[in-house]
Amino acid sequence: MLVSEREKLLEVRNLKKYFPVKGGLLQRTIGQVKAVDDVSFDIYKGETLGIVGESGSGKSTLGRTILRLLDPTEGDIIFQGDNISTLANRKMRPYRKDMQMVFQDPFASLNPRMSVGEIIEEPMVVQNLLTKAERKEKVIDLLEKVGLTSEARTKYPHEFSGGQRQRIGIARALTMNPKFIIGDEPVSALDVSVQSQVLNLMEDLQDEFNLTYLFIAHDLGVVKHISDRVGVMYLGKMAEIGPKTKIYNNPLHPYTQALLSAVPVPNVERKREKIKLQGELPSPSNPPQGCVFHTRCPEAHERCRVEIPELVHQGEEQYVACHLYTKEQ
Ligand code: SF4
Repeated sequence: MLVSEREKLLEVRNLKKYFPVKGGLLQRTIGQVKAVDDVSFDIYKGETLGIVGESGSGKSTLGRTILRLLDPTEGDIIFQGDNISTLANRKMRPYRKDMQMVFQDPFASLNPRMSVGEIIEEPMVVQNLLTKAERKEKVIDLLEKVGLTSEARTKYPHEFSGGQRQRIGIARALTMNPKFIIGDEPVSALDVSVQSQVLNLMEDLQDEFNLTYLFIAHDLGVVKHISDRVGVMYLGKMAEIGPKTKIYNNPLHPYTQALLSAVPVPNVERKREKIKLQGELPSPSNPPQGCVFHTRCPEAHERCRVEIPELVHQGEEQYVACHLYTKEQ
């Protein structure tokens, strides 16, 4: 069954998140950082959609905007059929329990003055759910689900390793029985040896709790490990999105091709020639006209400098935003 034949959990339509740039004596708005610029995609129930891109590509801002931790500048976020893009805080509350985030730095995201039990229990206390004894039971159950023992409940975050702290962060994200979890670089701060343990845990929990993930990372190997489909972002735009096998075996966008060409492959026969991108990532406060990648693209041609490429369907569930695949109007 194709992923796109499943029921949609989330639809993102023409989402934009711009941050004002202030300047001058009066700190007036003199420009805008286009962190997320007209991004559209769907997430299907039970899948893991990985989002990759360099730092500055807008992937973390995308995640935070979808969860409404940031207000979108424009566009729609439709969660289970409900448009949540402009809901006031109070009206967002019922959706918040269904949508959780696991952060990159488990140390910074866990309150060091609270015991692990209090950290995991807190969302239930805030929502006034269950009795004290039931909450304690749930905390112990969650700790066991993430591979920790019940003794962890009375300890504090600093008493744990990075990997264990991330397990605590995951347990907290699960407290309210969410449907959707965004992982914002959840294993980037961990030792390589611990990364796959946490990724495997996330996969096991996905099956057990029927979770849907949006997994944001800069590491292509990590994203390949966990994702069903992969989206590649460049300078606030979605360059390409499709099934993991298509993106990794047959990348269409010149940026995806360059990113993947830099990853070492064990199989000598399948080695790709390394594509060296020219120049630096342009500033999102002054993105290039036309295709945002044209200043670095080895395939850039005249049309790329003036016309923004739309994301177009290129075979089974694969979409690419590049003029090499679109007809001139
Ligand atoms: Fe390169 Fe042009 Fe395609 Fe952009 S639209 S990726 S510049 S070929």
